[in-house]
Amino acid sequence: MKPYGCRGDAAPPLGPLAPTLARATTFAHESAEALRAVGAGERPGEFYARYGHPAARAFESAVAEAEGCDGAVSFASGMAALHALFCAPLGEGPIAVARDLYGGTMAMIDKDLSRFGIRVVRFDPFGDLALPDHVRLVHIETPTNPLCRVVDVARVAEVAHAKGALLSVDATFAPPPLQRVCSLGADLVMHSATKYLGGHSDAIGGVLGGQHEQLAAIEGFRRRTGGILGPDTAWLVARSMKTLALRARQQAETAGRLARWLAGRKGVAAVHYPGLEGHPDFAVAKRQMELPGAMLTFEVLGGLAGAARVYDRFRVIGRAPSLGGVESIASLPLHTSHAMVPPADRARAGIADGLIRLSVGLEPYETLAGDLERSLSA
Ligand code: PLP
Repeated sequence: MKPYGCRGDAAPPLGPLAPTLARATTFAHESAEALRAVGAGERPGEFYARYGHPAARAFESAVAEAEGCDGAVSFASGMAALHALFCAPLGEGPIAVARDLYGGTMAMIDKDLSRFGIRVVRFDPFGDLALPDHVRLVHIETPTNPLCRVVDVARVAEVAHAKGALLSVDATFAPPPLQRVCSLGADLVMHSATKYLGGHSDAIGGVLGGQHEQLAAIEGFRRRTGGILGPDTAWLVARSMKTLALRARQQAETAGRLARWLAGRKGVAAVHYPGLEGHPDFAVAKRQMELPGAMLTFEVLGGLAGAARVYDRFRVIGRAPSLGGVESIASLPLHTSHAMVPPADRARAGIADGLIRLSVGLEPYETLAGDLERSLSA
C-alpha cells in the first residue's frame, strides 16, 4: 500500500458509501513484527497519521482519478503543497518559475526559498521560453491569477523536458474536468484545495498529483516536515470531490455568459476571460480546456475609486478573498491576491488598479447579472 492515495484505490460500492474518518493519531497492530511491517510499507494498514490516514487517502485517490495521474499527496494548504513542490528532493539545480504567479507564491520564492539556497529564475511563459541549462523544475500557473491568461502546457512541457526538467502546473483556477494538465505533458499538478476541490469555502487544503516516482519523494518530504492535511478537513474535501465535475461545469457555463454580457456593457473597460474571442489565449484555451473556467476579471472606468464604487454595491456577490466556492465572491487583486507584489511588477503584469476579480458560483445567471447590472449603473 502506498502512503498516499492512488488512482483506482476507491473502494467498490460495498460498506460505507462516505469516506472513512479516523481522527486517531496512531494505529495499533497485533505484534512487533506487524507494526514494523506496516511502518515499513511492506504490509497494508495505517501507522501514524502524519504518514497518512484514511480520509487523506480518500481525497488523494479522488484527485488522482479526476486528474488521470498515478496518485496524489495532500497538504494542510495550497502554500504547504507548493513549499513541498519546491523543496522536496526532485533533482538538482535551479527552479524556473513563470513570471505570472499567485502573489503568495512569489512572496514565498522571494522571502523564503532564497534563504535556503534554492535558486529560482523567472521566465515568460508566453515568450520564447529561454530556460537556463540544468534547471530541475519548471513551474507555471494556468489560467493565471488574476488575468486568466492560459499557458500552452504542451509547448512548455516540450521545452522543459528537452532540458531534463520536470514541469509542474498550479491548476487551482481550473480544476478537472475543465482541464487535465498531466494529459498535456505536465509531470505534476498542484491545487489549492481550498478553492474548487473543496468548493464550499469551509476547508483549507492543498494537493500535488503526479507520477509515483516524484510522489514518493514528495510524500517523504511531507512525512519529515509534517504538512499533511488533517482528518476532518480531508474528509470534507474528499466528500466535495464527488460533485466537483458538476460544480465546475455549471460555474464555468455561468461565467461564460456573464463574461459575454459584461463585454458588451457600457462602463466596463475590459473583460479578461479566455472564452472571449478577443482574449489573447482564446485559441489555446479552446484547444486544451473543456471549458474556459469560472474565473473572470473585469476593469471598470475610474481606476481604484471606480472599482471600489461598483464593488461596494454588490448585494449577492460576496466581498471576500479566495475563489472556487459555490457562492460567488469578488475581490480587488490590488488589495488581496497581489497586495504583496511590488507596484512595478503589478504594472508589468498588466494588473490595473481598477480590476475586479469575480469567482462565479452556483447562483442562477439572472441573479448574478442583476447584481452586476445594479452595481455598475451606480
Ligand atoms: N495557488 C493559487 C493560484 C492561489 O490562488 C492560491 C490562494 O489563493 C494558492 C495557490 C494558495 O493556496 P492556499 O490559500 O490554500 O494556501
